Amino acid sequence: MQADYLIVGQGIAGSVLAWTLHQRGHKVILLNNPARPSASRASAGIFNPLTGKKLVKTWKADELFPFAQKFYGDMQDALHGTFQHLTDIYRPYRSIEEQNSYLAQTADPSIGKYVTETPDHQKFAPFIENSFGGLQITQAGWINCEQMLQKIMSFFVEKNQYFENEFDYEKVEIQQDSVIYEDIEIKKILFCEGFEARENPFFGWLPFNPVKGQSLIVYIEGYSIDEIVNQGNFVLPIDKEGKCRIGATYSWHDINWEISEDGKNFLEGKVKTFFKAPYRILEQQAGIRPSSKDRRPFVGLHPVYKQLGIFNGLGTKGITLAPYFAQQFAQFLETGEEIDAEVNIERFFSLYFRS
Ligand SMILES: Cc1cc2nc3c(=O)[nH]c(=O)nc-3n(C[C@H](O)[C@H](O)[C@H](O)COP(=O)(O)OP(=O)(O)OC[C@H]3O[C@@H](n4cnc5c(N)ncnc54)[C@H](O)[C@@H]3O)c2cc1C
Repeated sequence: MQADYLIVGQGIAGSVLAWTLHQRGHKVILLNNPARPSASRASAGIFNPLTGKKLVKTWKADELFPFAQKFYGDMQDALHGTFQHLTDIYRPYRSIEEQNSYLAQTADPSIGKYVTETPDHQKFAPFIENSFGGLQITQAGWINCEQMLQKIMSFFVEKNQYFENEFDYEKVEIQQDSVIYEDIEIKKILFCEGFEARENPFFGWLPFNPVKGQSLIVYIEGYSIDEIVNQGNFVLPIDKEGKCRIGATYSWHDINWEISEDGKNFLEGKVKTFFKAPYRILEQQAGIRPSSKDRRPFVGLHPVYKQLGIFNGLGTKGITLAPYFAQQFAQFLETGEEIDAEVNIERFFSLYFRS
């Protein structure tokens, strides 16, 4: 079998890259081991241009956000899905000081353009502690990752270009201008294994700084809010029947894929500071975010084997980062046009040659 690219891993990274390359006319084969855990299956899928306690505009938001929204909108139309939810984010103020500080910040038009003038505070009041009011962030929303991944998988299955198996690194045979993997000859193998890339003998040297995350799927009777509510932690309505996601934890130690009692207790403790309605826990999920030491993605080709590439390091913001940088990577693969130096793995080549 022949193809242009073999993509290893079908999380957000592999799915978005596969779709991008396919849309640009390349033949892509996807290889994924569903028995392995995946951050994307635990992801809330939120895209939020203003984040953190200090209300900071996220990196490259003005470029990344419009790009990502169009990308997922087009993708869901083409795949007959309903996975993109454009929904505001309501941030109840913690105090009068926080109210003053956020309002002063939003006077800056580059921040103000992501904020709604007049939120309907009354609507939130039965469920949310918002006695100081709140800020409503626009151009935000969430992607139902489970549905998006399923749609992408079905699309490539139908074309006979999706296979479920563990990738065996020992079977990689590098040729002059191509690479052979089992019975497939391809131009390049592009690795998208998320945090599991630490086991990849070609790219394991990249400086990952994994962040474990957990969330709760809950049922809230009579919950009628469409917006995501966020005060450090979030309540995200998944459907109209009261199913919501409460998240998320961030942990830089005990890096494993297991849910924990500590994670649950932490989330419950945090959420009760702003969320008044009772809820019932249906499920708890955990994942490992493939973050990098400098908090920028890993995009590019191997320092020696140009037939091997990586698209990884999406960290805490896979949903917004993936479409924009998949496009840059595709452009680079086609024309050699430079990848943004902040994401190009060339910035870490000295680590490879030192190892
Ligand atoms: C609790 C939590 C909440 C989050 N919330 C958000 C959010 O709201 N918004 C946001 O943008 N991001 C969020 N993230 C981050 C986001 O989930 C990640 O950025 C993203 O999932 C990374 O995707 P990935 O494809 O790189 O990795 P993964 O999703 O881990 O995918 C890797 C894939 O590779 C496969 N694989 C690995 N090794 C092999 C192998 N050897 N052979 C075959 N297949 C292999 C795995 O099976 C898996 O399918 C969250 C993460 C967590 C954990």
